[in-house]
Amino acid sequence: MNLEHFIAKYNELANERKSQAIPPLALDVSQTTSAIEILNSSKFSDGDKDFCKDLLVNRVNPGVDDSAKIKAEFLGKIAKGEIKCDKFAPQEAVKYLGTMLGGYNVPYLLESLSSSNDEVAAEAVRALKHTLLVYDAFEKIADMSKDSKDSKVASRAKEIIESWANAEWFLAKKELPKEIKLAVLKIDGETNTDDLSPASDAFTRSDIPLHAKAMLKSRVDNYESRLDSIKKIAAQNDAHVVYVGDVVGTGSSRKSACNSIVWHFGDSIPYIPNKKSGGFVIGSIIAPIFFATCEDSGCLPVVANVDKLKEGDIIILKPHDGQIVKNGEVVSTFTLSPNTIFDEIRAGGRIPLIIGRGLTNKARKFLGLGESEIFAKPKQPAQSNKGYTLAQKMVGVACGKEGVRAGEYCEPKATTVGSQDTTGAMTRDEVKELASLSYSADFVMQSFCHTAAYPKPADISLQATLPNFMTTRGGVALRPKDGVIHSWLNRFCLPDTVGTGGDSHTRFPIGISFPAGSGLVAFAAVTGSMPLNMPESVLVRFKGKMNPGITLRDLVNAIPYYAIKKGLLTVPKQNKKNIFSGKVLEIEGLEDIKVEQAFELSDASAERSAAACTIALNKEPIIEYLESNIALIEAMIKDGYQNAETLARRAKRMREWINNPVLLKADKDAEYAAVIEIDLSEIKEPILACPNDPDDVATLGEILADSKRPKHIDEVFIGSCMTNIGHFRAFGEIMKNEGQSATRTWLVPPTKMDSKKLSDEGYFSLFGAAGARIEVPGCSLCMGNQARVKDNAVVFSTSTRNFDNRMGKGAQVYLGSAELGAVCAKLGRLPSVEEYLQIVPQKLGENTSKVYRYLEFDKIKDFAL
Ligand code: SF4
Repeated sequence: MNLEHFIAKYNELANERKSQAIPPLALDVSQTTSAIEILNSSKFSDGDKDFCKDLLVNRVNPGVDDSAKIKAEFLGKIAKGEIKCDKFAPQEAVKYLGTMLGGYNVPYLLESLSSSNDEVAAEAVRALKHTLLVYDAFEKIADMSKDSKDSKVASRAKEIIESWANAEWFLAKKELPKEIKLAVLKIDGETNTDDLSPASDAFTRSDIPLHAKAMLKSRVDNYESRLDSIKKIAAQNDAHVVYVGDVVGTGSSRKSACNSIVWHFGDSIPYIPNKKSGGFVIGSIIAPIFFATCEDSGCLPVVANVDKLKEGDIIILKPHDGQIVKNGEVVSTFTLSPNTIFDEIRAGGRIPLIIGRGLTNKARKFLGLGESEIFAKPKQPAQSNKGYTLAQKMVGVACGKEGVRAGEYCEPKATTVGSQDTTGAMTRDEVKELASLSYSADFVMQSFCHTAAYPKPADISLQATLPNFMTTRGGVALRPKDGVIHSWLNRFCLPDTVGTGGDSHTRFPIGISFPAGSGLVAFAAVTGSMPLNMPESVLVRFKGKMNPGITLRDLVNAIPYYAIKKGLLTVPKQNKKNIFSGKVLEIEGLEDIKVEQAFELSDASAERSAAACTIALNKEPIIEYLESNIALIEAMIKDGYQNAETLARRAKRMREWINNPVLLKADKDAEYAAVIEIDLSEIKEPILACPNDPDDVATLGEILADSKRPKHIDEVFIGSCMTNIGHFRAFGEIMKNEGQSATRTWLVPPTKMDSKKLSDEGYFSLFGAAGARIEVPGCSLCMGNQARVKDNAVVFSTSTRNFDNRMGKGAQVYLGSAELGAVCAKLGRLPSVEEYLQIVPQKLGENTSKVYRYLEFDKIKDFAL
């Protein structure tokens, strides 16, 4: 860039952003370089240099951002005396190196410890005491403290280690106050994460201030003026704004939802551009993943009854006493949980706390000291002689023991980690902030399924740059149009292992996954473990024989259907009861289903707001699945997918398991929060989720008898991670020789392998004859950020969730099986139960074993991608 114009150009860009009431973007590499060149040049005025100094100090991302590398190098050279800059004294350069959190700044801080300039060295000591992301540098400083021949250097290093051991980094931060004054922003009913971070604005998620402008835009009519007005009320009362709702944070795991709340109502972080921390959320129910994301972000989540809170109220939150006071009267009470949350908020979030606590423990161990008493110890459940559930055993093995109890805090090994594209940019930024250049998790995968079909310019740029970021750290990058993350990631799972992913549907059909926000996903990828408060489990036990015409999708919907019958789940949002919320859904009784089918059940545990799901399967379907997946991995390596080493390692682990296929099993006397038995023989007709709530389930007959439910169908969508190749063949068979479908019909195979096989088998000609619109493999309508159904359409969809406006503005969406979807497409309406039970078996006839044959790559001759 022409330096003469740099400041004018920067101001122009900054003013453009200012007109949208948002701060400028953080400096990119070229801007950082220009700012440094101006600081180094004699041609520029003092004022210009002050301007550039301010940019360099305050507007560069920390960690291992590319711009941070240039900034650290510049400041490091000044600290060493290699260059002089009249705007930075050497010790000041070190001071600002100390604001960069870790990563590229650390080597320069380390070098400064040996500086002959005492002021520089003292500043480096001060900086390192409060730097947590030091990784291997710990060992270097520890060695210096013991072995340095220079006694001054040794004592500086010792001072740092002692400071870490004494948790000075933590004690320097403010405790959570006893009383916090808050102004209430009350959003009645349920706020899902799409309300806070709309899918249609997914491409702006990593630009936190810009993305926050979309918060509540499709949920609250006058959202901008409401936000402005509550901010004014808060300012007049010297209070913070608190986000209050009956149910908060259901739906996707997107951290951007929490980021937007924190951006609007949190506090700036010195020297870190476009990111805030803090904030408050109160909900009668807070969805578990959202709760954890708040914890990770340093935003205090409070679960308390909100009936007596109104918009504009000024309340006093007493976190230690568990009270909400309004006009001098206690209007709600609560117990903050987990007991470590006070420390989490003080540390700036759960992740900084875990990292900092780890550093303190390491330093204490090095000094031969016992465990620190400064931090609250996670409260652990009472000892028990009872057996363990399957989930408790899987997590136990990942923690190196037989099992973990419900309520136990643990840090299981994260063996498999997934990231999808609309959260990928945030995960990337979090990885950079964690100052990491490699992954410790055994297998990390990035997909591009949410943006493949209709990419915006920001998506194209992400698709071009993110793969390299992932693969150079040891991750595996899929390609746009490869297909949906879960339909791929499931194929890399290892039995009985633990993982996570930045998508709420990361619900492994083998092993167990606890989906999370991008902060925790980055943490799991970087460190190879994840923090977990082991949830209780709910057992769903199927028994009996499935009736003809009944599908796995009907069993998915049978779970809430039976839970409602048992009084364990209610549909209205106010005072909602949901036994599954935050628990592990454990499913037994379907041991012989294929792994692809098992995923339909585990995938939908997201809609139950469950924390995770296990499915007890026999080893035969798992062996069959892994053998197929090994063939897929070999084809990927041949086709140039990276990181090849990671792929090969995963195939090796699969082979090892196949050679000794032992599966964990739940103990007979394991304890569950509830047990729901479902007799398959009782299910005699399809069960659907009705518009627009995945919990609002009813049988087809009940829907037809309910005059308030729409019966005509405008559009049918067969797609999403809930589908597999069998669903598309079933659609093709049912529509065969039926002419054009009576609805607008969308068909989106989940992966390119499904698509190719369907095409090879001639099904695309059947889809074409049915007048279906076929999209590239990916999330498509399910995500709602790409193509949309017509405004106010009545839709039948096989996708995961039907929240308001997700698939289209004002759309009313039924969720059910592909088989029922095909019949709806044929008729343009919901069929009668009799019609359905006649059409489906008749059309599928003898073909069912052919229709429901899943992809076995190892059996496909010369299989290649
Ligand atoms: S298909 Fe739908 S539920 Fe599945 S990953 Fe994509 S957007 Fe999420």
